Amino acid sequence: MLARLHYALLLQQRSLNSTLPAAQATGKITIRPHSIVHSVIFDRSTRKATGVRVIDGQTREALEFRGRILFLCASALESARILLNSSTTEFSNGLANSSGELGRNLMDHCMGGGATGLIPGNEDKITLGHRPNGIYVPRFRNVKEKHPGFVRGYGFQGDGVRQNWQRGAWMTGFGADFKHTLSRPGPWMFTFYGFGECLPNHENYIELDTQRVDAWGVPALKIHCAWRENERALLKDMTLTASEMLSAAGAKQIEPFLEDNAPGLTIHEMGTARMGRDPKTSVLNAHNQAHDVKNLFITDGACMTSSACVNPSLTYMALTARACDFAVDQMKRGEL
Ligand SMILES: Cc1cc2nc3c(=O)[nH]c(=O)nc-3n(C[C@H](O)[C@H](O)[C@H](O)COP(=O)(O)OP(=O)(O)OC[C@H]3O[C@@H](n4cnc5c(N)ncnc54)[C@H](O)[C@@H]3O)c2cc1C
Repeated sequence: MLARLHYALLLQQRSLNSTLPAAQATGKITIRPHSIVHSVIFDRSTRKATGVRVIDGQTREALEFRGRILFLCASALESARILLNSSTTEFSNGLANSSGELGRNLMDHCMGGGATGLIPGNEDKITLGHRPNGIYVPRFRNVKEKHPGFVRGYGFQGDGVRQNWQRGAWMTGFGADFKHTLSRPGPWMFTFYGFGECLPNHENYIELDTQRVDAWGVPALKIHCAWRENERALLKDMTLTASEMLSAAGAKQIEPFLEDNAPGLTIHEMGTARMGRDPKTSVLNAHNQAHDVKNLFITDGACMTSSACVNPSLTYMALTARACDFAVDQMKRGEL
């Protein structure tokens, strides 16, 4: 988990160290922290978004900011929540939601299948400081041959670590000998953790909670999401193939695991305003532009149509760059 937190910090630093300084260098950006977007303002006559309603997080003052185009990138759940909270007479189920797909098809990678094993030897080797980097096994299911039990697949992340004193938590023993054993490094272990593709499912969805609001009076979200048959089959297969790989690599005492993790634990939420060619079945077009509101772009995981099985953030960044390029071009042409 620490490694994952570290990676998340690195991701945040991407904005702090790269995109925000680049934007600041233009001299055309105003950064306004402590600003909670409440909803999007929609002009019925022009059919455009004209700005956002904001609550100042420190003074609680209600403010409005206007713009020619609007990019929502508050993450998949929050961007959808903002739009669900921006209903108008025309869009009674949420702004830009003529398809009814806003908030639907919520996905997260399914995680929790894998195996761990003991790698004999190298007892005279220890790591100093950080351990060497982990490994990645790209998706191998349904690449060349169709698997009979499920569609799509999963990748493995993994690492080798030497057990430390914490192994005492599940070892039997007591007294001085036991403590002495734990004061020395244990055996080398290797673990494969699977990250599987979650398929879009209309019944995995979010909605505004009519009973509860957050600290700023904005309706909270109710989240309805569960693994379906395909995700469960992937998780099961992860335990089998991880065990097979460890066995082929000469590992001993192989222990498959299948954790009962709820969606959300992999923290790769996406899919709540999916892309598509048909405005009847999707919220955004291929440029992350809302079918219903041409000057509204949603550039986060909300746009995803399926989840693949890899870490998603670089894809979001690439899609955002592409959407920006398109929007600038459209503005130059006078289309926006
Ligand atoms: C612990 C952890 C580990 C992760 N590890 C990985 C990884 O290894 N690889 C990977 O690819 N992904 C990883 N992820 C996922 C990754 O962090 C997200 O995919 C990515 O941050 C999504 O980017 P985003 O810009 O859409 O949303 P965010 O990064 O969440 O940014 C949204 C921003 O909008 C702001 N915001 C939200 N609501 C409002 C509002 N109403 N008004 C104003 N501002 C608002 C938020 O404060 C936030 O600053 C991890 C996530 C977590 C939590």
